[in-house]
Amino acid sequence: MNLALLFDEDFVAPDRVVLRGRRLAHIRSVLGANTGDRLPVGRVNGLMGLGEVLSLTDSEAELSVTLDQPPPPPLPLTLILAMPRPKMFRRILQTSATLGIKDIWLINSYKVEKSFWQTPWLSDDNLRENLTLGLEQAKDTKMPGVHIRKLFKPFVEDELPALLHGKEALVAHPGTSAPCPTHLNRPTALCIGPEGGFTPYEVGKLEEAGCQSVHLGPRILRVETAVPVLVSRLFDACL
Ligand code: SAM
Repeated sequence: MNLALLFDEDFVAPDRVVLRGRRLAHIRSVLGANTGDRLPVGRVNGLMGLGEVLSLTDSEAELSVTLDQPPPPPLPLTLILAMPRPKMFRRILQTSATLGIKDIWLINSYKVEKSFWQTPWLSDDNLRENLTLGLEQAKDTKMPGVHIRKLFKPFVEDELPALLHGKEALVAHPGTSAPCPTHLNRPTALCIGPEGGFTPYEVGKLEEAGCQSVHLGPRILRVETAVPVLVSRLFDACL
């Protein structure tokens, strides 16, 4: 946690917050903070700054906060992801938030197992918790939006063309002939397949909607690896 993300319910006055639970444990055990220390904080979807520890007990920390810095710029990326296996999903969500992705679409695909959609990690609370962990890692405050589409064909035919409007549109697909572009740095929509890959029918439908198939070389990457590799190829955000 490189920044404590603050939510409306943490504020007890316009410039005071009380933190409990995970953030308190981190402040005490990992940061070893004491009264008077200043810690990086940020208000969700708002400014970042410092919080001065006013009091610290076993059950809560009270901080006086000054918020005057904007969060880092978001990536101009819409990530369209075939719903990953639950074990990987949490990590991919956190990584996506850490990388600055703000628009995430979870879609169905032939090789997405039906049971993946039952995972508790898709509940609003769990989505928020994992995206929060990703934002706190990066020192960012802007909460990504997550959209869930459990039917592939209606999504691709009825929604995707509008979503791609004004963007570069790519589908990462191993074995295709075009290498993934580098340094694109423009609004982009990127589709990433499931563990078993998109089927030829699905790739055809994504291409019909306007996506270009691109590859990352002969090595097949896990989705959790493909996401940061693709992002760092397409955007110079870390320069
Ligand atoms: N056997 C599957 C296939 O050939 O499509 C492998 C799928 S891979 C584990 C999961 C997803 O990561 C792929 O659908 C693709 O979107 C992305 N990916 C992984 N390695 C890739 C590569 N070398 N080129 C392009 N996309 C890749």
